[in-house]
Amino acid sequence: MWQHISRDISAATGEAFFPGVIRAVGGGCINSAYLIKDGARRFFVKANRAAGLALFEAEAEGLREIALTGEIRVPIPVCTGVAVDSSFLVLEFLDFSAGGKGLAEELGRQLAGMHRVTASRHGWRRDNAIGSTPQINAQADNWPEFWRDRRLGYQFALAAQKGYKGTLQRQGERLLVRIDAFFPGYAPPPSLLHGDLWSGNYGFTHAGEPVIFDPAVYYGDRETDLAMTELFGGFPPDFYAAYREVFPLDAGYGIRKTLYNLYHILNHLNLFGGGYLMQAEEMISKLLSETM
Ligand code: ADP
Repeated sequence: MWQHISRDISAATGEAFFPGVIRAVGGGCINSAYLIKDGARRFFVKANRAAGLALFEAEAEGLREIALTGEIRVPIPVCTGVAVDSSFLVLEFLDFSAGGKGLAEELGRQLAGMHRVTASRHGWRRDNAIGSTPQINAQADNWPEFWRDRRLGYQFALAAQKGYKGTLQRQGERLLVRIDAFFPGYAPPPSLLHGDLWSGNYGFTHAGEPVIFDPAVYYGDRETDLAMTELFGGFPPDFYAAYREVFPLDAGYGIRKTLYNLYHILNHLNLFGGGYLMQAEEMISKLLSETM
């Protein structure tokens, strides 16, 4: 496998690459990850089963979409492929640091800059994945409909297939028919989104640049990215202050963020089961009480 990957790296970079060191690195949720290096160059390699190639291709395309904006740093994709029975994605290797003064603010400003990049419709030209769950990006003009059908509706249907019926589905249906109630006078433009922006998917390089990685890119309401930053642990307070200073948020964000994070909790329910059922049901009850 490594011979094949090294050959592809050589071809993609136009420079022969003969790795002397291949080391597994931890930290990822879904894939195996490796540092691979020769005397001069280092690369970060993610690997999965062969059938995962399309997801790596979508991840690479998402990283390029963000990189093209020039607003915020992402690891640049080098190549993707299948070697022996594994799919792989090779990225430039980044040295992460513990961060430093002013970097969380810079991250907030740069994310706001990325969110100012818009498309004509919500969605994206291709589907991708959120964790290992398919994420449907078929484009639409109406954002609440997009969120209802391609995001919440999709996860509710998946949950039903997995046997989560009863209250979750009944309350879910009540919520989805009222979706418009969460968007009074609010029609967000389709912003370029990271799509999976929890605290495990950003960092700072030793050179002092904020970096975001492992995205699930599409175009949609920027509030969805911010909501997710608050879901698991939260980002530093300076991040939020700086973001809001350059790109203020609509007053309805406080209520919508639960509607947006419900997507990720349903996805966690579908991926990991158990305790997320209660959390999803509580979120739905809260949302329903807010539309009464
Ligand atoms: P997964 O898709 O399995 O969740 P991630 O893309 O989140 O994997 O990467 C796992 C970990 O590897 C991250 O938490 C981060 O610490 C590190 N990492 C990610 N991208 C790079 C990179 N380009 N260079 C060096 N380390 C990286």
